[in-house]
Amino acid sequence: MSVRTRDRRTTRGVALPTVAIVGRPNVGKSTLFNRIVGQRIAIVAERSGVTRDRQFAEADWSGRSFLLADTGGILESPGERTLDREVKEQVLTAMGHADLILLVVDGQEGAHPIDEHVADLLRRAGRPVVLAVNKLDEPGRATAQHEFHSLGLGEPIPVSALSGKGSGDLLDRVVEALPPEAVEAEGRPVDLRLAVIGKPNVGKSRFVNRLLGEERVLVHEEAGTTRDAIDTYLEFEEERVCLIDTAGLRRRSRVDDEIEFYSRLRAAGAMRRADVCLLIVDSDAGVTNQDFRIGEEAWKQGCGLVLVANKWDLIEDRGAAVLARFEKELRERAPYLRWVPIVTTSALSGKRVRRVLEIARTVRDERARRIPTAEVNQVLGALLARTQPPQGGRGDVRIYYGSQVAASPPLFVVWANRPKELRTSYLRYLSNGFRRAWSFEGSPLRIRVRKRGEAQS
Ligand code: GDP
Ligand code: GDP
Repeated sequence: MSVRTRDRRTTRGVALPTVAIVGRPNVGKSTLFNRIVGQRIAIVAERSGVTRDRQFAEADWSGRSFLLADTGGILESPGERTLDREVKEQVLTAMGHADLILLVVDGQEGAHPIDEHVADLLRRAGRPVVLAVNKLDEPGRATAQHEFHSLGLGEPIPVSALSGKGSGDLLDRVVEALPPEAVEAEGRPVDLRLAVIGKPNVGKSRFVNRLLGEERVLVHEEAGTTRDAIDTYLEFEEERVCLIDTAGLRRRSRVDDEIEFYSRLRAAGAMRRADVCLLIVDSDAGVTNQDFRIGEEAWKQGCGLVLVANKWDLIEDRGAAVLARFEKELRERAPYLRWVPIVTTSALSGKRVRRVLEIARTVRDERARRIPTAEVNQVLGALLARTQPPQGGRGDVRIYYGSQVAASPPLFVVWANRPKELRTSYLRYLSNGFRRAWSFEGSPLRIRVRKRGEAQS
């Protein structure tokens, strides 16, 4: 099966619906997930002692994009009763967070009592459900799905996650059952899309409430009908700013909002839509690997980034030396932070909260910069003159010229005679040279190597 892709720019601003795959252990949920997601990189969430990794990724089908979650996780438990309860819990949580449930059952085994309990739950909740009957690999078994009509969840769809058979029909059904596509709010276009990200308790809600308290709030709007994706629009110095998915931040979260897997999924959706992510960290409690990892996700997705060191009120009396050390440590621990502005704030007092917006605006502009080709080649020429690419096994490795082929985030292409022999370390040298010339502060910068004569992207 091939999953069609389309130009992300056309959908980037809108919220994506979430599809959660649920079902008993061993019915083929993760096989199906991998089949649908294909080559895309899945983001794997937490690993715990008893559960297998849960993962999610973006998928497209027939021009619709959605986030697909493999809620996975349950191992065969010793007693049926425990297993039954665990599967139910998984389904209940998924219902609380997903727009559509994809229930997978095992067509070789036939309907299992747990499938019936799960179907009961789903029917009563009235949530959109698509029922996949898996492991129907052989043509002879193509009618085995019919016994699952009794679950009362509509037409069961026969698939083989292993071979890919039937997965196109399944995806057609999934796409049909999704809520209507979210649309951008009417009216003036948005000038800056911001996502506030960070682990729990760093002050995200306070920060957002502070912004909402100080700036002119235009509207709280629901972006289409996608679950809970509520954005807030502000007017900041003549610009229209969209705070993405503030729902979970403004009303103090229900307990299940804290469930890590789903909060990460939600953050991924927000990052995908943002021009700039504000990564909030707690400067008093110290910055942890989890903070760096969240920032790195945003960076990989091509978002601009501002690091907001919040709760600064708790440590600022320790003086300028603390700030200097703090900054140095951050930038050393996460290489991408070398290029990211850091602002210290107190969401409690409001100190420098507006400053974050000013800096976010600069980052947006840096991320959108376009460097004329002549200038790219001037800088590239000087870098090549200073250090030639190390020579490969088959003689000269040459770079001929370069050009910026995309912005937001900036993407450069350099054309060479033997692209595969250019080392990452040399590309890093070029990237650092580009940074020195143009900075692109707060924005990721990408370089691709093409063989001379090949098209741009
Ligand atoms: P999960 O626990 O529901 O995520 O199930 P997995 O995806 O880990 O699959 C459980 C087992 O079923 C693995 O051994 C898979 O190879 C197998 N399996 C998954 N899909 C199919 C299928 O379409 N046909 C067959 N014959 N086996 C499958
Ligand atoms: P979230 O989980 O990231 O949304 O964090 P909250 O906004 O709920 O804040 C967590 C806790 O930190 C609350 O008790 C806040 O009052 C407190 N807090 C948030 N920002 C600040 C700050 O700038 N300074 C201090 N001292 N406390 C803060």
